[in-house]
This record gives sequence, structure tokens and C-alpha cells, in this order.
Amino acid sequence: MVRSRPVTVTRSWLALAGGRLGPPLERQSRAARSALQRAARRLLHLWRSSLQLRVIASTMLLGLIVVLLLGTYLYQRIADGLVNDRVLTARAEATSQTRAAQARFDSAGRMDAVSLTQLAFDIVGQLSSPGADQSRQVILTRASDNTGPASVPTVLSGEVGLPRVPAGLRSAIAADPGHQQVQIVSISAPDGATVPAAMVGSRVTLPAAGRYELYFVFPLEREQQTLRVVGRTFALGGIALVLLLGGVAYVVTRLVVDPVRRAALVAERLSSGRLHERMRAHGEDDIARLGKSFNAMADSLQKKIRQLEDLSRVQQRFVSDVSHELRTPLTTIRMAGDLIHDSRHDFGPSVSRSAELLHNEIDRFESLLSDLLEISRFDAGAAALDVEATDLRVTLDRAIESTAALAARRGSRLEVIPTDGPCVAEIDPRRVERILRNLVANAIEYGEGRPVTVQLGVNENAVAVSVSDSGVGLRQGEAALVFNRFWRADPARARTTGGTGLGLAISREDARLHGGWLHAWGESAVGSCFRLTLPRHTGVPIEYSPLPLKPKEVPSPPGPGSGLGPRPVAASGSPES
Ligand code: ADP
Repeated sequence: MVRSRPVTVTRSWLALAGGRLGPPLERQSRAARSALQRAARRLLHLWRSSLQLRVIASTMLLGLIVVLLLGTYLYQRIADGLVNDRVLTARAEATSQTRAAQARFDSAGRMDAVSLTQLAFDIVGQLSSPGADQSRQVILTRASDNTGPASVPTVLSGEVGLPRVPAGLRSAIAADPGHQQVQIVSISAPDGATVPAAMVGSRVTLPAAGRYELYFVFPLEREQQTLRVVGRTFALGGIALVLLLGGVAYVVTRLVVDPVRRAALVAERLSSGRLHERMRAHGEDDIARLGKSFNAMADSLQKKIRQLEDLSRVQQRFVSDVSHELRTPLTTIRMAGDLIHDSRHDFGPSVSRSAELLHNEIDRFESLLSDLLEISRFDAGAAALDVEATDLRVTLDRAIESTAALAARRGSRLEVIPTDGPCVAEIDPRRVERILRNLVANAIEYGEGRPVTVQLGVNENAVAVSVSDSGVGLRQGEAALVFNRFWRADPARARTTGGTGLGLAISREDARLHGGWLHAWGESAVGSCFRLTLPRHTGVPIEYSPLPLKPKEVPSPPGPGSGLGPRPVAASGSPES
């Protein structure tokens, strides 16, 4: 067991080093990466969507920067103050001690090297702090410019922790022997830690031995401890301050953001049709004023919408009533017209021609009336689907059959491009046949006798039929207008099929009722294409159409309305686009 472990480690390490992870490792790293990405996306979304989070985070960040700058500055000032104080006292202490030492050396008079060394040891021992106390240590060493015999060696007050005297300090004393010199050095504390210390040095003269330097080392341990406490206090205080700032920002933003969020929610509900929704507006402050103005705006909007709805209802009602009222006289006119039409050969040529005209116009009148009644049903929300699973090929065949006579009259050839397999969808066959009949009849009507192509398409959740012709086409912007009621590209254009101008409007309503799309594309003198896309299953939304809107052979001018995309906006003019 013990031996096999390094082998396992080495293998996996080699695999890692070679960049080839084993399959489970690879899967794990991919999962970790995607989890990280998901978390990052969620965080980004939260950051973008929450004003509160942004305010709190910015306040805390700014607070942190201020605390850091201020804390560092204050800490530095305190540290400088503490060290300067200590250095001042160290200097004073060193001055008096050096004077005392010099006095003792002076009073000793001339003596041999051994006695002088003994005296030096005594003086250093007395000058330094007693026992284990290391708060003042002393070094006596020969000056660098003393070239006489080294009768007294370097004397240290303690064994541990004393540093070598820095060369800089020594040369400073040599350069200015009359003055005391100070330098901050590092010494080792008894516990092994490194502690800063103030080293104060000055010149003394030993009888017979000449120039020596006397150094006092004052550890700054207490100052360091004080600074540590100050630093910790600053850090804790800073953290507490930043958190406090975050808390304050949270409370303040809640006070402001909450009403704004409530306003957004109410606005969303209003726009989704719940016109009675209002904001709470208590008090006199700005938020209350916002609430009151918002509610006043909602009141006036609701009033206007109600008025428009009433007006629209009255209009729809009027159209519906008129259409219904016209049915009875029209039936009578129809019967009388048919009678006259049947016996037109008994009249003179002009009356006979009038009888034919009357007959045609009665036909147009009838289809107009039935289209108007159908539109009124859509407006009243009374149109309902009669859904059954139907093969779209059958529905299309029926629509083509019913337009065959028109195609023959106009000399148009119909080409059908079927799907490979069945094209079944849950649709109302009567309504879909009506849409297709209208599209094919229009293509023949405006196709100028050129071939009309009808293509079927199917994908996982949609079926589609596109009807394209190479006739007059549509001018720019007209693709968005063709679905408007009574809109015609050329109102003066003679109609032979007796179109009412409502065909595409009804087709669009029919497509919408299915949850489908009806889109148009056209180019002047090139042709047009109308594409119906329906969901295969009721209630399952369409993602994209199986067929392109623009025929492939047409060169593409820049602009919308082309391609397979799910939302060819400008081409359709329909809200589903
Ligand atoms: P109608 O055909 O009865 O006028 P529609 O609603 O079916 O009414 O069509 C509205 C208008 O759209 C037509 O008058 C015509 O100008 C235009 N249109 C429809 N289909 C085509 C087409 N295939 N090519 C060119 N224009 C068309």
C-alpha cells in the first residue's frame, strides 16, 4: 500500500502535466468550470439588476478606501510619534550615561591594560540594565580611527541579541565625533523574534587606550507592542466602520428603492392590463408625491383607455349591427338580382350588361359583408378554434383546388414543393384553408400570370406554407401594411376576384388564433412571398419557421424581412413578429 501511493500520484500528475485529464477528471473540471460561469453570470445579473446592491457595494468600497488611507496615515503618524519620543528619551539617557562613563574613565588615571579592561567591563556592566532586563544594553568598542594598540577589547553588556554596530553609524561618529549619533537597528529578542531598537553612539576617551565608541541599545519592544494594539484596533474599527457604512447604505437605499420597486411592479401590472392597480401614497415626502403623481397618471390612463374601449366597442357593435341588418335586404336584393340576371337575355344589350354588373357587384357586396361579420367576430373575441390533427398537405390541396379556376383564367401555373413526409399539426382546417386560399388567390391575382410557388415545411414544433410569386411585388415598407384592414397597394387597381381588402387582415387574425405567424416579404417588380407558420401542437410556442421568408434566388437587399430567423420583424407587420 505504502509503495503504491507514489505511483498513483505520479500517474495523475503526469496526466495533469500532459494536459490530458482522465475522463472523470475532465468531466469534473468541466462541471466546475460551468458552475463557476453560472455563478459569475448570476452575480453579473444581480449586479446589473439591483440598484441596492450597487449602492451598498460602492459605499462599502469607498468607505474601505477612505478607512485604509486614513488608517495608514494615522498609524504612520502614531508610529513616528512613538519612535521619536523613544529616541528622544534614549538620547537623553545615553548622554547622561556617557558623561558618567567618561568621568569614571577620566578619574581612573593611567593604568595597565588589564586593569583598564576590567574597568571597562565594570562600567559597561553598570551602564546596562541589570540581569535579564534588556531595556538598555551597552557596547564599548575601539573607534575605527584609533590606530593605537588594542589594549581594551570590545565589551558587550550581554551575550544575546546585540547587533554589529552598523558601518553607517560608525562613520557618522567618526565624521562628527563631538555629537551623539542615532540609528534604528534590528536586534533579536530572547524569544528569537526580531525587534527594532534605537542605537545611540558617542565617542569616549579611555586613558592610555585612546578613542573608543560607547553605544547604547534601547529595544523598541514596548512601542512595537503599542503599535500592534493600535493596528489591531484600527483594523477592527475599520472593518466595523465599513460594515456600518454598508448597513447605513442598505437602510437608506431600502427607503428609496423599495417604493421605486413597488412603482415598477405596479407599472408592470398596469401595462399587463390590470388598470385598477395603484401605488400606496401616504405622507408628504418625495416618495409620497411620486406615488400620488403615479396614481393620477394611472387614473387618467385608465379613463382614457376605458373611453377608447367604449368607443371601439361602439364602433365594433355598429359594424356588426350594420352587417347583420344588411343581410336581410341583401338576401332580397340577391334573389331579385339573380332573377334579373337569369332573364338578362330577354332585355336589350344595355340592360343585359347592367344585369351582369349588378350580379357581380352583389357578389362583391356579399363577400364584403361576410368578411365584415368575420372581422366583427374577431373584434368581439367570439372567434374560436375548432382544432383537429390535420395533414397540412390535404388542406393545401383543397385551397389550391378552389383557386384552380382563377389560376386558369389568369394563366398562372402553380408549383407545389411538398415535404418528404406528412405535415401534421393541430389546426382548425377551415380557417387554415381560408388563409391558404387567400394567399394563393392573391399570388395569382398579383403574380401577373407568372408561376406561383407553394412550399410546405415542417420542423420539430412548427409547420409552414410559403406562397411566392414573381409579380408586382411590394414596395419598401408595404410588407408591414398589407395586414391592415382595407389597405391596398393601389386602391385604383381593378380587381377581378372581387377582393374586399380584408382578406389578409382576417388571415392574420386566423394565424394569431392558432398562436402562429403570418409574415410577408416583397420587392417591387420582383415578387412577393407570404409565409404562414403554425405550431404543431396547440399552446407550444414556435421557435423558428421551417421555411425562409425570402425566396433564395432573389438577391438580398440590406434590411429586415429575410432569412429563417424566428422574428422577421419589419416584413410581417404582425404583432407576433
Ligand atoms: P385584397 O386582396 O382583397 O385587396 P388583401 O387583404 O388580400 O385584400 O390584400 C391587401 C393588399 O395587399 C392587396 O390589395 C395588395 O395590394 C397587397 N397584396 C396582397 N397579396 C399580394 C401579392 N401576392 N403581391 C402583391 N401585393 C399583394
